[in-house]
Amino acid sequence: MSTRTGLNWQRVQALAAAERASYVARNPESARLAEEAARNLLFGVPMHWMNDWSTPFPLTVRDASGARFRDADGHEYVDFCLGDTGAMFGHAPQPVARAIARQSARGYTAMLPSEDAGPVAAELSRRFGLPYWQFALSASDANRFVLRWLRAATGRSKVLVFNGCYHGTVDDVFVDLVDGVPTQRDSLLGQVHKLTDHTVVVEFNDLPALEAALAQGDIACVLAEPVMTNIGMVLPQLGYWEAAQQLIKRHGTLLVIDETHTISSGTGGYARAHNMQPDVLVVGKPIGGGVPCAVYGFTEELARRVEHAKRSAPPGHSGVGTTLSANMFAMAAMRANLEEVMTEQAYQHMFALAGQLADGLRAVVASHQLPWCVTQIGARTEFQFSATAPRSGTEAHAAMDGELEQVIHLYLLNRGLLITPFHNMLLVCPETTNADITQLLDAFNDCLTAL
Ligand code: PMP
Repeated sequence: MSTRTGLNWQRVQALAAAERASYVARNPESARLAEEAARNLLFGVPMHWMNDWSTPFPLTVRDASGARFRDADGHEYVDFCLGDTGAMFGHAPQPVARAIARQSARGYTAMLPSEDAGPVAAELSRRFGLPYWQFALSASDANRFVLRWLRAATGRSKVLVFNGCYHGTVDDVFVDLVDGVPTQRDSLLGQVHKLTDHTVVVEFNDLPALEAALAQGDIACVLAEPVMTNIGMVLPQLGYWEAAQQLIKRHGTLLVIDETHTISSGTGGYARAHNMQPDVLVVGKPIGGGVPCAVYGFTEELARRVEHAKRSAPPGHSGVGTTLSANMFAMAAMRANLEEVMTEQAYQHMFALAGQLADGLRAVVASHQLPWCVTQIGARTEFQFSATAPRSGTEAHAAMDGELEQVIHLYLLNRGLLITPFHNMLLVCPETTNADITQLLDAFNDCLTAL
């Protein structure tokens, strides 16, 4: 018998084949639409990676509301993916729907600030504890713009990231440690610059490596998620961030915390909940309730340095900003989302349900005696194929098994449950119910039995 991640691999493969056949039989309308769309869509999908789910052909969504969506064949799903955080507060939250409906008759974009701009920035400042804010259309853009501002403000060229990180399509951060050697990620397309010249990469939770890198004195900023979430989850070890922040400050480097996923930790993100003191904070994806937008905030001191850099530069293109950034729609959506959706009450509900989900997943894994672990950060839960929680990107990567992931994901999908592709992440939203958690846990248990 061949085993992998504690499972009989022949059985895994047999189940995969059965689930693929079941998907094909269950989804004739999605199949028809996929075939039709392939006539004019490159790769058959509007985004090439929409082919990378577990399904034999893309599942077409008809509509989505709260914790649920329906596909083109009329099946209803409980959504634990929630647009990989873009819909973390539920699909089409009512206050956001009302705000954008109101805005729809009042103009979309004018390259001028709308009346929502001041109140949105004030609320971001209150919530995240940083006084000055700017806007972008995506977290990728926000991170790119932040790197530009900080390189300009510090006069230093390098950025430090953690091995296995993801911060969007930001070229600078695609450098991995391969056998300890910084190496440009070879999956990148059309990249002609030598990224290792200006990107330094160390393992998360490795303080000596961080200190050695900072000691060179040429690193403008550390760009980090406070908990790594994109290579499976990697939690900071006890005391890691306290010590890391001291080192970063001592070497005159700035700390950028990307809360795009860890906003699952609370109304003010992980940094606020854990008393971190970042110089810059970035949040994208769910900040406008699913409407495309992102925000980044600066400390008072850094804001002055950034202003100085801008004023000292000759007039002309700054390389920061896009025409539709901070458009009236996005500002209206953000205001409603911040004031009425991302509330303490919503988070309390999400925390309680995610706790049940994490405990339930642990119990199911234990009952099947599998060497897997479960990690939870607020509303975000992940199961990983390793007996203990990974401590670095390298360990987390070693715990990944794309083939096994896809079998589990497809099994759940065929039973009306969607979880996040490319790893094993589950989100709950304000509309997720106890019954949804029970349904997920029962199906997960059945899946492990079938495996
Ligand atoms: N930062 C983090 C931590 C992310 O996980 C992602 C996307 N998964 C991004 C930034 C980029 O977000 P977007 O794709 O919306 O630009």
